This record gives sequence, structure tokens and C-alpha cells, in this order.
Amino acid sequence: MTTDLRLPTDRIVRPDKDRFLNEENPFEAMMSRFDRAAELLDLEPGLYKVLRHPEKQITVSVPVMMDNGEVEVFIGHRVLYNTSRGPAKGGIRFDLNVTLEEVKALAAWMTWKCAVVNLPFGGAKGGVVCDPLKMSAGELERLTRRYTAGIISTLGPDSDVPAPDVNTNERVMAWVMDTYSMHMRHTVTAVVTGKPIEMGGSLGRREATGRGVMIVTREAAKHLGLKIQDATVAVQGFGNVGSVSADLLQKIGAKIVAVTDWKGGVYNARGLDVTKMLDYAKQHKSIEGFPGGESIDNTRLYQLDVDVLIPAALENQITMENAPKIKAKIIAEGANGPTTPEAHKHLHERGVFVIPDILANAGGVTTSYFEWVQDRHGYFWEEDEVNRRLEAKMCEAFEDVLTTAQRYKTDLRTAAYVVAINRVATVTRMRGMYA
Ligand code: NAD
Repeated sequence: MTTDLRLPTDRIVRPDKDRFLNEENPFEAMMSRFDRAAELLDLEPGLYKVLRHPEKQITVSVPVMMDNGEVEVFIGHRVLYNTSRGPAKGGIRFDLNVTLEEVKALAAWMTWKCAVVNLPFGGAKGGVVCDPLKMSAGELERLTRRYTAGIISTLGPDSDVPAPDVNTNERVMAWVMDTYSMHMRHTVTAVVTGKPIEMGGSLGRREATGRGVMIVTREAAKHLGLKIQDATVAVQGFGNVGSVSADLLQKIGAKIVAVTDWKGGVYNARGLDVTKMLDYAKQHKSIEGFPGGESIDNTRLYQLDVDVLIPAALENQITMENAPKIKAKIIAEGANGPTTPEAHKHLHERGVFVIPDILANAGGVTTSYFEWVQDRHGYFWEEDEVNRRLEAKMCEAFEDVLTTAQRYKTDLRTAAYVVAINRVATVTRMRGMYA
């Protein structure tokens, strides 16, 4: 029985847009990046072994009474990869393609991502193998609550803090929070992030990822001696990340010349009015046909003579097919995994300044951290305060990654892994081996 439908349920299901580790062995693919950083850091063999294994992997059966009166049993996973720096942090996804290997890979990725921005969190990920498109809101609620009950021994503000991910949203987080709180016999808002503002969510969270993209792009331009006020920008994707990045970059003076989304795109060499585009997209569910410019597709977008390119839609968009034609000086990866490894190597060798996803889109998890802090204090910050703190965290992370890249004479992606793994390794070493 669905108990609370005050929050919108129509957007629980979002298109699967985050299969960036969709490889034969996602965990090994992820760990090849870890291995490269470990080699540069000359990690001692024992520590290497520790950091290459997830701390805890849980698999639960999730029986759910379906609307037709029949019982269905789903499989759910939760992996806590590493908690040496603090509670595990990582999303929960509902998707048919969920596998334990992928959850493990994403949990490792969250560990490094939280460490890049120096959050006092470890990394986790969870998922339930299901087809949410075929499930009613009531079935999804029962699934969420039973899965939460199944993994409840790991959950908690001090141990494991989930967030939304593919096909889950603030509605689902509210159910997780309620289920956990019922078991604890009191309200525990800090057990999940990405909650509605009314029940302990943070102001600024919705814009945080795009704001982070804007900040690192601005810092990269500064580093390269490029005036952001004179910079031209092309953005692929006009959803949460793409539209906020475009809007905020325009607000600091950059000229957004091209944007594409799932349906089409617009180009105007003199600049597009992002505010008007936001209104248009709200009305038409796409920017296709926006009257402020001529139409453009992704192929052309990637070849434009612009200063900044922001892939903010899907994985594997920059491949060896289009990378040699890219003219941008800066690529800020708003999306997860938009660049294939070969294309990344090629771009780095050509001197393109690629700000890796693990850093560029870390604004979201950083503000999740702020949400957790505010929940624990029971005191909520003004939006300006959230943005000011995000600014500081992102600038610091950018600087750490940049100086590490210079020190190790390597690309920013490898440098980001070096920064992250070094932070996790240092704490693990300091804490020593228990028993
Ligand atoms: P979203 O669903 O809000 O937006 C996705 C956008 O991409 C939409 O505008 C859609 O029309 C567009 N798109 C889809 N297919 C396209 C195509 N073929 N060509 C051009 N545009 C296309 O999603 P989002 O939250 O903005 O996430 C985008 C990416 O950023 C994903 O890779 C996601 O994993 C990553 N990311 C998001 C967050 C966050 O806080 N939202 C945090 C970190 C990473």
C-alpha cells in the first residue's frame, strides 16, 4: 500500500544515462586506473592489496508483493568499498543491468571521488536488479522499503549514507529515510542525502553539479591564461548538469554558442540566451527549434571552434572518431565517463586540458556532504553559504589535482586518482591494521 504520495512519483524513473562502466569487467576496468595511480605513488604491496578489495559486499533477496497479488523476489546489492576516511557514501540505482561487479566498481569510484574533493567519506554503491519502468509507484515503494530493511545493518549517518542514482530520486530517498527512521524509533534525516528540502535536503543541491562544472572550468581558464569573459562554450546535454553549467558560465561572462539535447540542438556564433532556452526547454521538453539560432547536431557540436566543451549528457561521447576533430582548449566532463580511454590519451597528447569527471562533476557529492552536515547539526544554511563553501571545496580540489599533475608530469585524470588514492592510503597507513 502506498502511504505517501505527496511527492511526485512520475519522475522516479529516469532514463539510464550512466553506464559509464559498461565494459566486460567493470571492476577491473575501474581498477586499471587505480593500478596506474598506485604505480605512480609506489604503494607498498600490502596496502595495494587492501585498497584493491571492497570492505563489505551484501546481497539480499527482496520479496515484494506486486499489485497483481503475486510475490516477486528481486536481488539487491550494497557494497561498502572503503570507510577508512569516514562513512560510506554512494547512490542506490534501480536497473535491470545492475550486477555486483558494477556495484563494486562504482563503490570504488565513489571512494576516490569523495577523496578527490577531500570529503570525510568513504565510498559505497547499491542497486536492485529490477525494471522500474514496469513497476507502479506502490511496487517501487515496497521494493525500496524492503531493500532498505535488507541492508539496514550497514546504513546510518555514521556508517553508510545513500543518495539517488540511476532511476531513483528524492521520492525514493524519502522512503529510505522513513524506513530507517521507523527501525531506529526516531527520525534520522542524515541517513540519506538528495532528500526533499522540506525534510532535511540542502539548498543549492540541485544546481551543485553544474555549479562545480562552472567553477573548475573558470579555474582551468584562469590557469591557461584564457579570459572566461571572452571564452566560447559548447554544451552537450541540457538537463540538470548541462543547463546549470551553461547558465552559470553565461552569468560569469562566457558566451554559450551551442547546446544539444536528446532531440536536437541550437547554434549561434553570437551567443545563445540561456535564460530563454531554459524557459523554452521547460515548455517544449527539448531545446530543438529554439528560435535564437540555427540547428546543430552532436557531430557538428564536437567540431566547433570553441574554447570550452562540456559533455554533460551521456557516457562514451568523445571517441577516436571525433576526438581528432575537437578544437576546444578545455573539456570539462560534466557527465560520467564521456571520454573513452583512447580518445582521452589522444586529447592529452594534443594538449587539450581535460578536467576529468571525478573532479569536474564532484560538486553534487560535495553538496550532499553539506546536506549531511546540516542534518547532523539540525541547522540549515542559506543558499549563499552552501555556494560559498562549494566554491572553496572545488577550487581547492582543482588546485590539488593540477599541482599533482605537474608534479607527476601526467594528465589531470591520472592526477585526480593519485590525489584520491594517496588520501585513502595515508589514512589507512596511519590507522594501521586492526588485529
Ligand atoms: P538529465 O537527465 O537531467 O540530463 C541529461 C541531458 O542529456 C538531457 O538534456 C538530455 O536531453 C540530454 N541527452 C540525452 N541524449 C543526448 C544525446 N544523444 N545528445 C545530446 N544530449 C543528449 O541528467 P543529468 O543529471 O544532467 O546528468 C547528466 C550526466 O551527468 C550523466 O552522465 C550523469 O551521470 C552525470 N552526473 C550527474 C550528476 C547530478 O548531480 N545530476 C552528478 C554527477 C554526474
